[in-house]
Amino acid sequence: MKRFLIVLAAAALCSSALAQHFTTTFSGPTSIRLFSKNVPRTEIVLPKIDGYTLYKGDFHVHTIYSDGEVTPRERVREAWYDGLDIIAITDHLEIRTYEKFMLKALAPYNKDGKPYTYANAGAGNKKDKDAPMLSNLNAGYEEALHIIEKEDIPILAVRGTEIWRNPRTTGEYNALFLKDINAICHKDLFECFRRVKEQGGLIMHNHPGWRRKTMEKSEDQIRAYGEGWVDGVECVNSSTLYPTTIRRCIDEKLFIAANTDTHRPSSQIFGRDKEYFRTMTFIMAKECTEKAIKEALLKRRTIGYSGNHLFGEEHYLAKFLNEAVECKVVRDNEKQEHRAYQLTNKCSIPFLLRRGNTVYKLEPFQSLRVNFGKDKKSGKYRLPKFTVDNMWHIDEKHPVIEVSVDK
Ligand SMILES: [Zn+2]
Repeated sequence: MKRFLIVLAAAALCSSALAQHFTTTFSGPTSIRLFSKNVPRTEIVLPKIDGYTLYKGDFHVHTIYSDGEVTPRERVREAWYDGLDIIAITDHLEIRTYEKFMLKALAPYNKDGKPYTYANAGAGNKKDKDAPMLSNLNAGYEEALHIIEKEDIPILAVRGTEIWRNPRTTGEYNALFLKDINAICHKDLFECFRRVKEQGGLIMHNHPGWRRKTMEKSEDQIRAYGEGWVDGVECVNSSTLYPTTIRRCIDEKLFIAANTDTHRPSSQIFGRDKEYFRTMTFIMAKECTEKAIKEALLKRRTIGYSGNHLFGEEHYLAKFLNEAVECKVVRDNEKQEHRAYQLTNKCSIPFLLRRGNTVYKLEPFQSLRVNFGKDKKSGKYRLPKFTVDNMWHIDEKHPVIEVSVDK
């Protein structure tokens, strides 16, 4: 009996411990956050030039609203992660690759169960150049705006489109800062251009050497440039430079641009762990508003950036280097007849400084000491002067820039 009572007591104790065990288990948290999914932004530190801030823009990207592989909302988020301030959503005016898949998926909801006939509009339709556009071409930009407001993303989205014609002859053009993309559709390229300008938009000639054997302007291009429709040129598309276009921009007073033209997620092409940022255009402006950025483009205050190379007018490149690099005299070594300078790079872009056959790589946020001897004629110490190998100011040439000392 006694033994039975002990067993009973033990069982009761066990069951209460079990009950207690279950109580504590269930009153605990339902889930535990293991890490934060808050993806940080890459901050790209740039100098100021002539009192202007250098804003970072990509004026050529695609989304699923044409033949790109991500949504406009993801384009906006990745633009912010990548350190951009401005993103132009520039889906093709004539190409709508994903629409046919969506229309097929929606077919069971149609009365007759058949998918809507997909047709490229206007000039993109080989069978019918007069075919009307059935989609709302503003939808991609509107989705981008929606997510900017919903998620408080500090990015300026630009309403744009890529006008696609024969790449071997006519080429492609981005229309930027539009009010209504639907309204510019027309089979005649120059009628498109007229409608873009009517809306106060800008026109950029995209990847001018793509699928072409010569950089000589075609008949259509002679007319496009000659009649003043073109405002700027995409001298760099993704990782490709079209070197003769820098001279074209200077001669014809057009803005220099560098863009990704990315169809896939930018991280698949430019990576986040690489030594360079995604291709972009630096725009010198007082503020990051549509009005100020447009004005800066029209005044041609831009520098192109791709794979740690910089493209622009010589005076802007010289200012960029001099504002980014602080140079001071360490000491005059009279014994060895040289002056030691210390150069400190205060921006996120490295510089390849060439003197004769020697190239000094001045990495971001690092310093270098370089010695310069005396000029034989004047007997004075020479100032630090370099050919900057990762800057391009005309054709395939790199500028020679003197670094100002103790400014
Ligand atoms: Zn494109």
